[in-house]
Amino acid sequence: MPVTSTSQRVIVIGAGPVGLCLSLALAEEGVPVTVIEALGDDNFLEQVPRAGTNHPATLEMYDRIGLYHKLEPRGIIAPVFHYWDRAANALIAAFDLSHLKGDTRFPYVLQCERIKIVEEALKMAKAHPAIDMRLSTSFTGFEQSGSGVVAHIVNPSGEVETISGDYLVSAEGARSIVRKDLGIEFEGFTYSDLTLNIEVAYDFRRHGYAERNYISDPTEWSNLFHWKGPPDRWRVHFPVDPSEDQEAICRPQALQARLQRFLATGRDFDIVASNLYTVHQRVAKKFRVGRAILAGDAAHVNSPIGAMGMNSGVHDAFNLADKLIQILRGRQGEEILDRYERQRRHVAIAHTQAQTSRNKRLLAEKDPAVRKRNQDELRRAAEDPALARAFLLRASLIESLREAERIA
Ligand SMILES: Cc1cc2nc3c(=O)[nH]c(=O)nc-3n(C[C@H](O)[C@H](O)[C@H](O)COP(=O)(O)OP(=O)(O)OC[C@H]3O[C@@H](n4cnc5c(N)ncnc54)[C@H](O)[C@@H]3O)c2cc1C
Repeated sequence: MPVTSTSQRVIVIGAGPVGLCLSLALAEEGVPVTVIEALGDDNFLEQVPRAGTNHPATLEMYDRIGLYHKLEPRGIIAPVFHYWDRAANALIAAFDLSHLKGDTRFPYVLQCERIKIVEEALKMAKAHPAIDMRLSTSFTGFEQSGSGVVAHIVNPSGEVETISGDYLVSAEGARSIVRKDLGIEFEGFTYSDLTLNIEVAYDFRRHGYAERNYISDPTEWSNLFHWKGPPDRWRVHFPVDPSEDQEAICRPQALQARLQRFLATGRDFDIVASNLYTVHQRVAKKFRVGRAILAGDAAHVNSPIGAMGMNSGVHDAFNLADKLIQILRGRQGEEILDRYERQRRHVAIAHTQAQTSRNKRLLAEKDPAVRKRNQDELRRAAEDPALARAFLLRASLIESLREAERIA
């Protein structure tokens, strides 16, 4: 039964993957949504490269809102990923998501960048009659009472406006104004090293790499991922010392030298872009206060090693959408939003944070004995179908969703 009353509006701040998935999931059930997004048509597609690996459970969710079939042609279906040892130039383990055939309709990841996801989802949201999409509009603050919320925005003409709704969802990303206004602590830490991302038009598969590779090294670990073009690009991540001159790190010659140290081809790489970013491991102490709710990066941020940030944010969006729909239909009381917090905060801490921290330690481990033990374990897990399935259920976040379902 769709929600019909137009007064039952949800205000979503941010048209990132989380805000757009949430809005589409709500709108599909007839819930009116207003989306506030600071970027406009003129600069929406100019966002820096970020997430791009979409895990099986996330693909199922995209499918539910009709987004998957728009993304598949723009991405790369990748069932296999690799762990390598850089110094030995050796493949340690190849994991095949086909082991999850009985667990998901999508036993692979889709390598499809965040920018393509938000581009397609934005088109769908703009066309949806239940979604009021406000681009070039900045959210500045809000108030709430027992019966609703009022959001303050600055519209494209620079005028201050207010809009009211039943609930306000902060899908604004890591710098969430809602989280700060509510005084919610963002607990955790920031890694001291920076991550350098270089985008290269070069086919690394000719050296035996898969579409997705995690490469361990005690001094310079890396990640190597393939993205669909044209032209096809590969993203290579390296850790860098924050005391180094950042401008010097990103000079073309320095990037070429770093890439040649990684893989000596004797020819310059075709570098498409590069950027440096800081990595945080943080989870908000609360995911909701009254009618204001946090989702995605507003609620938790983590290292991209393992591709869990955007995926777990999209999982927040669908969990929350289902609960808001039940509340707005009058079938459940507002207290089910506490279950959203219990479920998704548990996943953020026990799965996303735990696994991404472990992934980083695994790649950067300096102790040779520990490195050997880790690599032996990975090899054993990849070669044994039952162990591989258990490993992949965790790595693809399916286990996190199953565990969340068991939380009352
Ligand atoms: C380099 C890098 C690589 C990554 N790789 C991966 C990966 O492979 N897999 C993975 O799962 N995750 C990855 N992540 C993490 C991933 O990008 C984020 O988890 C994801 O984008 C979060 O989605 P979101 O919708 O919560 O927030 P965002 O994507 O940050 O979107 C927030 C939106 O809110 C808008 N906004 C912000 N403030 C306001 C305001 N005041 N008013 C109006 N609008 C506002 C912004 O313009 C933006 O459109 C990576 C991150 C980085 C930095």
